[in-house]
Amino acid sequence: MGLLEGKKGIIFGVANERSIAWAIAQALNKEGMELAFSYAGEALESRVRPLAESIGAKLVLPCDVTDDAQIDAVFDTLSKEWGGLDALVHSLAFAKKEELKGEFVNTSREGFKVALDVSAYSLVALARRAMPLMEGRPGSIITLSYYGSEKVIQNYNVMGVAKAALEASVRYLAADLGAKNIRVNTISAGPIKTLAAMGITGFKSILDQVEAKAPLKRNVTQEDVAKTALYLLSDLSSGVTGEIIYVDAGFNIIGF
Ligand code: NAD
Repeated sequence: MGLLEGKKGIIFGVANERSIAWAIAQALNKEGMELAFSYAGEALESRVRPLAESIGAKLVLPCDVTDDAQIDAVFDTLSKEWGGLDALVHSLAFAKKEELKGEFVNTSREGFKVALDVSAYSLVALARRAMPLMEGRPGSIITLSYYGSEKVIQNYNVMGVAKAALEASVRYLAADLGAKNIRVNTISAGPIKTLAAMGITGFKSILDQVEAKAPLKRNVTQEDVAKTALYLLSDLSSGVTGEIIYVDAGFNIIGF
């Protein structure tokens, strides 16, 4: 019997088969979890639906996280169809391409707002709706962050600020939701070649530097991240909340 037999989870953030969220979904499904998926905009539905259906998912729902009505509709459906929820994966972020190059000092007001709204506030919005469905089950929520939240990484710019807000939000959410037996944690992943990562100017050089300097002398894969997600979304991590767990081949421990 799988580790997650009888459990139900929703995945936010699959864009294609390279998405970190897709690797997490496969790992959860392998352990018996029943999954629902969301997709951001019609253009992505044709990519997400076949992936979701390939692992037997029946609920594939539209959700642009900047739209409260769409978020409400997702949780209304989960409430009606499932009546409860054990796991939520928040694996999404967005910043305008022009904000991911050049100097941070040139970040526009609008660019700042968009990056923080999509990449950080969305976790709060989703957690609030998940709360009544998860209460007492126990529930587990995870999000994905990056080292650029704590150190300056060239071109990461406003996304680093958004990730710092995301990580702080995880701690505040963990404090609020803990009494309801809901845990909230962050995985800080090393760089991985995905659609979102390709928007960062000079991304290839980040991969090269990690490979050269990280203790494990390699980059991490989506599967590396998915295995830690499985731990955080299962009873194996029952005493862990509000944490940042690094899945980065050890890069963050290195000075010079
Ligand atoms: P990805 O492009 O596959 O996933 C990003 C997802 O964000 C997409 O599914 C996209 O549809 C979704 N998204 C963007 N705007 C949205 C909106 N308004 N509403 C709903 N969804 C929206 O890339 P990924 O690398 O798998 O990214 C997943 C998460 O992992 C992100 O939070 C990213 O910052 C984080 N992360 C990625 C890396 C990396 O190097 N790839 C490293 C550390 C953390």
